[in-house]
Amino acid sequence: MATSFLLPCECGKKLRVENSQAGHILECECGRRIEVPTFRGLQRLERVSESSTSASYPSSTWGPRQALMLLGGLIVLASIGWQVYLGWEMQQRIEKLPDPNANAIQLPDELTAAASWRAWQQLQQGLRENPATSVRPIVEHREQWRWAAYGTLGAGFVIIIVGLLLPTKRTIVK
Ligand SMILES: [Zn+2]
Repeated sequence: MATSFLLPCECGKKLRVENSQAGHILECECGRRIEVPTFRGLQRLERVSESSTSASYPSSTWGPRQALMLLGGLIVLASIGWQVYLGWEMQQRIEKLPDPNANAIQLPDELTAAASWRAWQQLQQGLRENPATSVRPIVEHREQWRWAAYGTLGAGFVIIIVGLLLPTKRTIVK
């Protein structure tokens, strides 16, 4: 595992250099040429550990890698927004449902065992199956879209990972 160092340019960008590049001249994106210090000088620079480079790579070039990561990031954000919207929409629809108790079955005046049993059954069925008052079709509708949103989220992450795996372009002028 090679230790890398961050070599600051006057433009504010930081170029990643390694021990093996000591004494070389790098060309920054801004056009300036920066001489990489000698091995001893490198030790005084900010260090980057290899494990953290994927997340905080101070890349100085805009290329397919950055474009892919931006695209992936946007897709991830959009699908998260979509999920939030789906949840909100479901909430709205459920709140708009008529109250199943508002038009509840009138209990017969005569509370015979058979009549109240029928009324109870109707009430149960009304709560469970009446499409006008049931939350089930709303939840099912949401479930369908939710998987689509998960798929989009996954695709966004795949695009980001592909972007991370693309090699970065660095110009090294000896
Ligand atoms: Zn520069």
